[in-house]
Amino acid sequence: MIEMKDVWKTYPNGVKAVNGIDIKIDKGEFVYIVGPSGAGKSTFIKMIYREERPTKGQIVVNGTDLSKLKERQVPRLRRHIGIVFQDFKLLPKLSVYENIAFALEVIEESKPNIRKRVMEALDLVSLKNKARFLPDELSGGEQQRVSIARAIVNNPDVLITDEPTGNLDPETAWGIMDLLEEINNKGTTVLMATHNKEIVNTIKKRVIAIESGMIARDEIRGEYGYEA
Ligand code: ADP
Ligand code: ADP
Repeated sequence: MIEMKDVWKTYPNGVKAVNGIDIKIDKGEFVYIVGPSGAGKSTFIKMIYREERPTKGQIVVNGTDLSKLKERQVPRLRRHIGIVFQDFKLLPKLSVYENIAFALEVIEESKPNIRKRVMEALDLVSLKNKARFLPDELSGGEQQRVSIARAIVNNPDVLITDEPTGNLDPETAWGIMDLLEEINNKGTTVLMATHNKEIVNTIKKRVIAIESGMIARDEIRGEYGYEA
């Protein structure tokens, strides 16, 4: 599903963010990406959806060698990848419904199809009753649920989340975890970069620790392994 072979990333300013990563993540896995700030977690994640390109090495996602992907083929790759950010990145002037529908309108789905799929996604995140609200009329946890609905409305093979609970209070964070587990149980591969020690140590999953741009640990049902 996701494979990296000897992947390196040096930014144009000379910062060496990723220094020789080999990793294989299978379909349906749930993986935490942990490590100190500045360790290269975001860079690792961004290379999977081709927001950044490696300086060296091979990345294969869903059978596609990303180095062979032309710029115009990137949107097609991203249709198979849902992305959730710490700060939600919802469009502030669009309703909850429109924020989610947007991803489908881009791929020219029919209106009734879009409606069906948006409402299914809203149902999954328990926000059908807030379809007409604007993002800033929702709590942080609700906004994050909208961003998850947007990320999964295309039925992606992989859901990538960068600190999805970072801006949320603990109780709301656990609710987001329930949702990510539910999505994973339906077969979607989930990658979650996180600093949430309590969650990682309670909901045991594979843990990949990145330090100084290298894999420091890769454990089935691992621990967070750092001070919170
Ligand atoms: P993490 O997500 O683990 O905090 P990052 O991947 O964001 O780590 O960053 C790894 C290193 O690369 C850090 O030293 C960071 O400052 C640097 N870095 C990240 N993005 C860029 C960029 N666009 N240009 C230059 N350096 C960057
Ligand atoms: P750019 O290449 O300038 O980042 P894009 O159109 O590729 O422009 O992406 C615009 C924004 O949407 C970026 O912040 C990107 O990370 C985000 N994005 C791209 N694909 C997805 C996706 N499948 N799900 C969620 N957000 C995405």
